[in-house]
Amino acid sequence: MKPSTIEDHHILEQELTRRLQKLEAEQHAMAAAEKRRQKELHWMRCPKCGHQLATEHYGAVEIDVCPSCRGLWLDANELETILASETGLFRACVKVLHRK
Ligand SMILES: [Zn+2]
Repeated sequence: MKPSTIEDHHILEQELTRRLQKLEAEQHAMAAAEKRRQKELHWMRCPKCGHQLATEHYGAVEIDVCPSCRGLWLDANELETILASETGLFRACVKVLHRK
């Protein structure tokens, strides 16, 4: 496409802008799909050994425990909740580490 008049140039510019916006929308959709795929692949999987995590409840706190390597996973603010607790929550959580 080679513009010969100002009007042609304007039409070409509009077409290129439209194509660029379409490409950007496609890239955005692909990034969102990849994010969903990664979440499905890793959701509730141990970051160290890949085993399915099991959820255990300790009062207000849910701890995700790996039955294979006995790693613990805490969600945001759960460590603060455990440390601030005066009901032996910390001790209860630490027992998970010593289970066989
Ligand atoms: Zn593990």
